[in-house]
Amino acid sequence: MESYDLVILGGGLAGMCAAVEAGEQGAHVLLLEKQDELGGSTVLSSGYMAFAGTDMQDAAGIIDSTESLLDDMIEVGGGVNDTSLVNTYGRHQFDTYSWLVEHGIEFRALEAVSGHSVPRGHIIDPHQAIQSLYRKVKDLPNVTIRFCASAKRLLKNTEGRIDRIVYDFDGADHTVAAIKGVILASGGFAKSEELLQQFAPQLNGALRIGGAGNQGDGLQMAWEHGAWVQDLPYLNGTYGFHPTASGAVKSQGLAFYKGGIIVNQLGKRFVNESISYKLLGKAAFEQPEQITYQVWDQTVMDKSVFDDPLYDFELLRRRRLLYVVDTLEELADCIDVPPEVLEDTISRYNQGIQNGEDPDFGRKSLTHNYGKPTPIEKAPFYAFESTVAMLATYAGIAVNAAGQVVNPYAEPIPGLYAAGEITGGFHGAGYMTGSSLGKAAVFGRIAVQTAIAEIKV
Ligand SMILES: Cc1cc2nc3c(=O)[nH]c(=O)nc-3n(C[C@H](O)[C@H](O)[C@H](O)COP(=O)(O)OP(=O)(O)OC[C@H]3O[C@@H](n4cnc5c(N)ncnc54)[C@H](O)[C@@H]3O)c2cc1C
Repeated sequence: MESYDLVILGGGLAGMCAAVEAGEQGAHVLLLEKQDELGGSTVLSSGYMAFAGTDMQDAAGIIDSTESLLDDMIEVGGGVNDTSLVNTYGRHQFDTYSWLVEHGIEFRALEAVSGHSVPRGHIIDPHQAIQSLYRKVKDLPNVTIRFCASAKRLLKNTEGRIDRIVYDFDGADHTVAAIKGVILASGGFAKSEELLQQFAPQLNGALRIGGAGNQGDGLQMAWEHGAWVQDLPYLNGTYGFHPTASGAVKSQGLAFYKGGIIVNQLGKRFVNESISYKLLGKAAFEQPEQITYQVWDQTVMDKSVFDDPLYDFELLRRRRLLYVVDTLEELADCIDVPPEVLEDTISRYNQGIQNGEDPDFGRKSLTHNYGKPTPIEKAPFYAFESTVAMLATYAGIAVNAAGQVVNPYAEPIPGLYAAGEITGGFHGAGYMTGSSLGKAAVFGRIAVQTAIAEIKV
């Protein structure tokens, strides 16, 4: 039987960070990737990573701290996040940022994004990041990546330690031994209709965008061996996608975080637009016929950011996905809402800004505590039909701060580790932008360090 120190399942950001970390520590590693290429949901992502206290923030004059990042994370997570995971992220976030830079990952810009009190969205090109890590792996003779190799079952030895994996490769089952352990980095289940029906029937009708291989295989493998689950009640979609969006052409725009508003088919606002786009997705799905529009004016359009995954509104215009007209009456006609209601909605919103108080939903900022709303008054006016996409599940198997998978009694399952989107507990009731790629990198490396040291926590 083939034998390695560590076997890693999945070649997204968590698995690739784990593979490089383990390889550099001298471990003999096999990474199994189900697809014929690396990247999973990572390469489909917008590429924002949540870090605080970086040189990029310094250069932009932004004062930030790990404490403030963690406070935001807990607030956005509704206070039900596992604080041991959040604090571990805090202890390692800056080192991880530096490690990524040292390993060739390019951070190209900084933006204010959902859930953060200051601009903290450090943008990577996810393809560049995965390729960069892949180049490192190729320089490490002790790390092997096997493509089109789908892990199926985990096996235990007589002492109850997970020490082998059965995987499908070339049409046959193979078994490989993992002496120091198995790291599950196989992502979430955004592409498993069966698991979504089971755990998130409220999201029927949401678009499905995610890595093709992300079908919850790792969750099922871990459940067979008694892994506990966390955060399942908080499965939410993400708001801001055009109904025609797909994995390849995402067509997402978050004009509400630059000052736009969101109205329903009645022409009325229904939510404080500065909250997490996950919670906006929940609110949007409760609207009549689930049809909603982002509405903004030229002041917001002028904040379009070229080539940004979330804020390039000019790209949406070039794709002919925007209604662009000179009056609110014409805009109401385009999106089929009563003109007098839309005009009243916008006039109330503008009046609220002038009075310093949003009378309907208490909006005070653009994103979480950051930026000042501006009145919607400067023609032309824009509308973008928007819906919800299920793109990352974030609820998953329970781990402790050392990356060990735990059972319902918080006891580690010997030999089993996990990192990335497959794990639950970290985000709690709400996700802040950049924290998922961030946790993939932070905990991918931690799981390896624990497995190699065989630390007991
Ligand atoms: C459109 C979109 C935008 C996003 N934007 C952001 C963002 O800006 N910031 C942020 O923080 N997060 C974002 N996310 C979420 C984030 O991308 C993911 O949560 C993160 O990339 C997960 O990384 P991962 O390594 O855990 O999983 P993945 O990158 O999904 O990798 C998992 C890998 O495991 C493989 N695999 C699955 N099953 C098996 C098996 N049985 N055997 C072997 N391999 C298997 C898969 O094929 C895949 O390659 C976004 C997600 C999407 C879809």
